Amino acid sequence: MSEINAQRPTWTEINLDSLAYNFRSVKNFVGAEVEYMAVVKADAYGHGAVRCARILETEGVEWFGVALPEEGLELRKNGIGTPILCLGSFWREQANLLLQNNLTPVIYRIPQAENYNRFAAERNVVADVHIKIDTGMGRIGVRFDEVKAFVRELKRFKNLRVEGVMTHFAAADNLAENEFTNLQIRRFDESVETFENAGFRPKYKDLANSPGAIGHSNALGNMVRLGGVLYGLGGDVLPKEIVKPELKPVLSLHTRIVHLKKVPKGETLGYSRTFRTDQDSIIATIPIGYQDGFRRSHSNNGQVIVNNNYAPIVGRISMDWTLLDVTDIPEVKVNDEVTLIGASGKLKVLAEELAENTQTISYEITCGINRRVSRKYVKGK
Ligand SMILES: *Cc1c(COP(=O)(O)O)cnc(C)c1O
Repeated sequence: MSEINAQRPTWTEINLDSLAYNFRSVKNFVGAEVEYMAVVKADAYGHGAVRCARILETEGVEWFGVALPEEGLELRKNGIGTPILCLGSFWREQANLLLQNNLTPVIYRIPQAENYNRFAAERNVVADVHIKIDTGMGRIGVRFDEVKAFVRELKRFKNLRVEGVMTHFAAADNLAENEFTNLQIRRFDESVETFENAGFRPKYKDLANSPGAIGHSNALGNMVRLGGVLYGLGGDVLPKEIVKPELKPVLSLHTRIVHLKKVPKGETLGYSRTFRTDQDSIIATIPIGYQDGFRRSHSNNGQVIVNNNYAPIVGRISMDWTLLDVTDIPEVKVNDEVTLIGASGKLKVLAEELAENTQTISYEITCGINRRVSRKYVKGK
């Protein structure tokens, strides 16, 4: 971002080459026989949906997946022409927005279908929809044991065309749950059959998210829906025991030291005085806090990279500030760069590690980095 020097120096760097690399690497691994939906919901898991979609579009993904129609609209407004599926369906008032912007909704309730059919009829079009089947996730979707009744009712809507039938795995990341994943696959296959027996001809039959696509070759259908692996977040959401495509982290998070001070042994630091120096120390303040998505649960729990050394996070992380113990960092100065996520020299801190330290998954770490943190996109570096 050109104005970055006029801003607080706290930024994420998004490596678009690594994004493209990951897509090719995964496509190589999974195969060219299926189509690829790149899931760019939640602003591409915090990586910036528009910029990521532009790269992935040139790389040849066939679809984009978003959670909300609003997210699809943002892509359309920025010139993305590739088909877009709204994975989280739509709210009643958004039917026209979908039709006007060529956004395809997921549908799983008859009243939704009825509403959308009416809007399509008013415009004199036949609108594509994808039907979500709940085969065991228990979230949105027509329950697998209610598909027959659903399909019977769906027949009434002459202005809808079922372009896709899909489901979503609950535990594809865990090979100990293979029996359940296979049960989900069987329930899905039966559901597709029900559609076909009723005369529907869905072009897309898709089940797999990242762990499904990488870990379950029997779950590919004819399209896979990939989020995490494209962003290089494989470490904690793919099954541990399997062969995986090579992935590169796409996002890194940086800031600079704004204040350095000597703190004698025995003093306490930060809110609630949760850290006490056990030696004469040098403490650095960095301008990032939980408001930026650097979670409070990293308090006294983790490390960052400063001048090719790890420095521990000390005391409570507050809304805008974090403290580091830099006593052992040679020649540390105000304005030195700090890497909170990413690699620097031989050292690295992965989003997966931050996630493990704080009982979450890497997706929540990158999604959590908010808009107050500027984004710098790099390419051909
Ligand atoms: C988010 C999402 C995906 C992508 O999951 P990843 O684990 O990030 O690959 C796929 N399908 C649906 C329905 C989703 O909501």
